[in-house]
Amino acid sequence: MGTLKKVSILGSTGSIGVNTLKVIERYRNKFQVFGLTAYNNYELLLAQIQQFSPQYVAVNSQGIAYLKQRIVNKKIKVLDIEMEIDPIVTDPAVDTVVIGMKGGAALKPFLKAASVGKTIAPANKEALVIAGHIIMAKAKKHGAKIIPIDSEQSAIFQCLEGQKGNAIKKIYLTASGGPLRCLPKSQFGRLTVEKILAHPRWKMGKKITVDSATLMNKGFELIEAQRLFSVSSEQVEVLIHPEVIIHSMVEFDDGSILAQLGIPDMQLPIQYALTYPNRLKSNLDEINFCDLKQLTFDRPDFKKFPSLELAYHVAQKGGTLPCVLNAADEVAVEAFLSGDLKFVSIYKVVEKVILTHKVRDNPKLEEILAVDQWARDKAKEIIFKMH
Ligand code: MG
Repeated sequence: MGTLKKVSILGSTGSIGVNTLKVIERYRNKFQVFGLTAYNNYELLLAQIQQFSPQYVAVNSQGIAYLKQRIVNKKIKVLDIEMEIDPIVTDPAVDTVVIGMKGGAALKPFLKAASVGKTIAPANKEALVIAGHIIMAKAKKHGAKIIPIDSEQSAIFQCLEGQKGNAIKKIYLTASGGPLRCLPKSQFGRLTVEKILAHPRWKMGKKITVDSATLMNKGFELIEAQRLFSVSSEQVEVLIHPEVIIHSMVEFDDGSILAQLGIPDMQLPIQYALTYPNRLKSNLDEINFCDLKQLTFDRPDFKKFPSLELAYHVAQKGGTLPCVLNAADEVAVEAFLSGDLKFVSIYKVVEKVILTHKVRDNPKLEEILAVDQWARDKAKEIIFKMH
C-alpha cells in the first residue's frame, strides 16, 4: 500500500465538503484528511473531526471555544478562520486542497495553494472569476495543478486529457436551463424568494440557487472556463441541455467533438479530482440510455435571461469587469433574499453597476480588491435609490 494522499478541505460543511468526505470515506485506504475549515456549522464540523481526525481545523472565533471543549484528541490544532489558515493549505504534507467554500474569501487560500505548487480542486467560482488571471499565472509559475470540481469545468478538463496541447476550437458549456426554463417571462414579476428557493435542481446554497434561476451562474462558469482553459468568450457556447447528462463538450480544429457524460452527481467530479489521473469505482447510479431515449439541446433565451447576455459582455471585456459582475450580483442577490429587491431587479442593479464601471485591463490584486468594494457600494446605492 502506498502512502495516503493528504487532503485539506476548505468549506467542509457545505455540499462540496460533505460530498468530498463521502468520497474519502469510500477510499480510506487512499486518502487522509489533513485539514478542515468551516465558518459556523460547528456541530457538523465536530462530527467530521471525530470521524476523520484531521491535524488542523479552522472555524470562526465563536466556534473555537465550542470545539476546544469537545474535541477529545488534543493533538488536533484549532485555528481561527479569520486569522490564519496557512498550515491547512501550505503544510508540506498536504497533497490536495479542495476549495469548497463560497465567495471571495476563497481567493487568498487559493493563491496560497498555487504559490506552493499544491494540487488544487476548486468548486469555488468567485476566486477564478475575479482574479483568474492572477491565480492561473501563479499556478503555472509554481507548478500547481488545478483540477476543477465544478461539473462543467471538470467535463472540459476531462475532454482535454491526452490531447497533448491540441488547440480548442470551441467549448460547449452545457446548462440545465435552471428552474425557470419553462416559466413564461410574463410571470417573472411575481417570483418570490420562497418560490425561487423551493425547487433547486440540487440542494445548494441560497446564493447559487438564485444564480441558477437567473442563469448568472452559467455566466460565471463562462468566465471560469475562459480562465481555466485560456479561451476567448467567443469560443464558449452555452447550450441548454435539460437532461444534464452531458456535462460539457470540447470541439477541436478537425471538427471532432469530445463530451463527458455521467449522472448528475457532484461526487463524480470530486472523486475524479482526488484520484486523478486514475479512475476508481464509485457506487453511483449508472446511466440507462434506453430509458433516457433522447438528449435534447436548445439555445439560451437571452431575452428571458439577460444576466447570461450580460455575462458574455463582461467576459468579452475582461479586466476588472468580471470582479464588478461578481460583487454587484452578490449584493443584488442578497437584497433579493432579504426581501429588499424584486427578482427581476437583480439584473437591473447588476447591469447598472456594470455600465457605470470604467474597465481597467490586467488588474493587480490590490486593484481588484478596491474595485470589488466600489462595486458593492455602488450596488447598495442603486438598490437604496430604487426604494
Ligand atoms: Mg456547474
